[in-house]
Amino acid sequence: MKDGILRRDPLNKIWVVFAPEKVKTVIVGSSENEAKFDFDPFVPGCETATGPDILRSSDPLYSQGGWSSRVFPAKNPVLKVENDKNGRGHGLYDSMSRLGAHEVVVETPKSGVSFDQLSVEEIAGAIKIILDRISDLRRDIRFRYISVTKNKGLSAGGMIDHNYSEIKAYPFIPPFVRNKLDNCLEYYKAKERCLLCDMIDQEISDRTRIVCEHDSFVAICPYASRFPFEIMILPKKHGRVLSENPAQATVGFAKILKQTLAKLRIGLNSPAYSTVFHYLPVNSGSEAEAESAAYHWHLEIIPRISVVTADSFENGVFVNPTLPEDAAEFLRNIRE
Ligand SMILES: [Zn+2]
Repeated sequence: MKDGILRRDPLNKIWVVFAPEKVKTVIVGSSENEAKFDFDPFVPGCETATGPDILRSSDPLYSQGGWSSRVFPAKNPVLKVENDKNGRGHGLYDSMSRLGAHEVVVETPKSGVSFDQLSVEEIAGAIKIILDRISDLRRDIRFRYISVTKNKGLSAGGMIDHNYSEIKAYPFIPPFVRNKLDNCLEYYKAKERCLLCDMIDQEISDRTRIVCEHDSFVAICPYASRFPFEIMILPKKHGRVLSENPAQATVGFAKILKQTLAKLRIGLNSPAYSTVFHYLPVNSGSEAEAESAAYHWHLEIIPRISVVTADSFENGVFVNPTLPEDAAEFLRNIRE
């Protein structure tokens, strides 16, 4: 690695430059030390500040607060559920209304705790309410993709020091998702196998990029990680969405997510981070069967510790100073 290397990511079909001398582009910071907002509107007792709930989970653990997680419409939504599509052409250009949905999931009544410090049951409960919302939103045939993201820490765009995720329903398939899906479909058509199933087999065999492995899930630093300490959590069993085997899978997923995030918090000094679920698109019509066979759901975790330059967001060329083998070994050795 002394001179660096170029590696190709088969899932996104991009090349990543591994350049150890670029280590100065890594920001060593802690989300816990970032400026905090004085007011946390997501704690029990402040429900009127956020608008009415779409869904609420209660749990005996939280008898005083009355809820364990809740979902409500975003105050300043990116997309709005009540609009019609109203697609139009303007010469070369296309437009449509802001049709969609934008919801906020508050995953715990507790303020100022790290997600991994919640219990497995609490994390599984938060995942369950997200799955319930996905099941509901996918019934609207105007939607094509349900995105679930989490941004923790100000450097990641997290505005409040409280664990929450955002769900967005889009009337189109986001381009990065489309690209991944197309690459998986192409692989499946050529080999009649799922690219990610093959990737998991190889990673479990190689073991050099594994962060942790459980019965049904594995966490790895991808071969061509775009960012330092980037992690993918994958179910070992092929599946298009987590909800295919809800109870068992949700608890198993909560366990590995808790362990992986604890390793990041302890090892990297509570970095800001983003998580992104990658699911199959919804309402795919005649494509649904092929997509189900070819695509394999997963979660990406991106610690927000490196500078993203124009080369990355304009040219799609990522420069990473940290080899995934080094990142995975470091995280494997962290004792939670
Ligand atoms: Zn698969």
